[in-house]
Amino acid sequence: MSHDENCIFCKIVKEEIPASVIYEDDVVMAFADISQTTKGHTLLIPKEHQEDIYHLKEETASHLFRIAPKLANAIKEEFQPDGLNLVNNNGKAASQAVFHYHLHFIPRYGSDDGFK
Ligand code: 5GP
Ligand code: ZN
Repeated sequence: MSHDENCIFCKIVKEEIPASVIYEDDVVMAFADISQTTKGHTLLIPKEHQEDIYHLKEETASHLFRIAPKLANAIKEEFQPDGLNLVNNNGKAASQAVFHYHLHFIPRYGSDDGFK
């Protein structure tokens, strides 16, 4: 599995920096976003370094999106939000800051203004 030594999410996968891990298997990992846009804000990533949606391998995408509903249900159960946004930014112009593919799970509560 290939990693990028300068990538912060690869460092999380390699346990070089800590993260609050919610789910993990051979292919993907889910952990709490360090900056909680709303309570329960979680990131789902491939363990392999794949930069963005354009580079996401088909077999990785298929596994990641098979896990997505399970993660959504786990978040729903734990945080009891009123709604849930799934967001994926690709490219600087789209606000991508970490160039290792990640899908944001952002729970929404009533009239919160946590995500615009
Ligand atoms: P992007 O703007 O690339 O879609 O989102 C990157 C996300 O990664 C941001 O929500 C940011 O808070 C999160 N993030 C950046 N560095 C770290 C880190 O070291 N640990 C964790 N858990 N999240 C991070
Ligand atoms: Zn990476």
